[in-house]
Amino acid sequence: MLTISNLEVSYGGINALRGINLNIEENKIVTLIGANGAGKSSTLRAIMNLVKKTEGTVKYDGEDLTNLNTMDIVKKGIALCPEGRRVFENLTVEENLILGAYTIKDKALIDNEMNKVYDLFPILKERNWQKAGTLSGGEQQMLAVGRALMVKPKVLMLDEPSLGLAPLLVRDIFEIIKEIHRQGNTILLVEQNAKKALEIADYGYVLETGSLVLEGNGKELLLNDKVKEAYLGEA
Ligand code: ATP
Repeated sequence: MLTISNLEVSYGGINALRGINLNIEENKIVTLIGANGAGKSSTLRAIMNLVKKTEGTVKYDGEDLTNLNTMDIVKKGIALCPEGRRVFENLTVEENLILGAYTIKDKALIDNEMNKVYDLFPILKERNWQKAGTLSGGEQQMLAVGRALMVKPKVLMLDEPSLGLAPLLVRDIFEIIKEIHRQGNTILLVEQNAKKALEIADYGYVLETGSLVLEGNGKELLLNDKVKEAYLGEA
């Protein structure tokens, strides 16, 4: 289980996260929803130690990861697929995937993970020779998720995987997240698409201007009046 306690992040004196607590149980899909600027990305980045925490701890399976560097956190089994499809545009699909496996030295293991990614995303296999920058937006998003999977994570954190995708691709990406979960991963999903995220989540947290204001199981939150009004576009 991944446990985040009293997490605070500030940027030049401005508090982006004001002491949040999250519990991500093994083999669950947990989602963190909230409006633009609520602090969702900062949460994921702070867990990975990509931004400095001013307060708080991150523990995984009882082990304190709070001050580990990012690569060591990855080695413990936590991976982040960042927002905005940050693929290496001038490298091929395959080269992107190989780079994704940067904590793994064993070539056979890398091939094995790559085949698993190709099973999950057949389009990437078809286009494995193609420069990532020439892929469509949806394909780049698939590549970004595939690349995060190359380190064989136990916990996969996804930052807005559906952002900017056409409706059919949004559906596909949520199906793929469910499949990754079925294959044994724990998922922490950050989304602005609250409806879709809560539909697949076991548990959800709602973040507003750096503080958690609500939490509960996914189905409960979908029925919550405040969530409906603020995040599902229903009165
Ligand atoms: P979005 O969905 O728009 O990405 P978010 O919920 O992920 O939003 P964050 O990106 O975590 O929110 O940002 C939280 C707050 O911190 C925002 O007010 C943002 O402007 C600010 N912020 C984020 N990164 C930095 C930074 N590097 N320097 C200064 N302020 C930052």
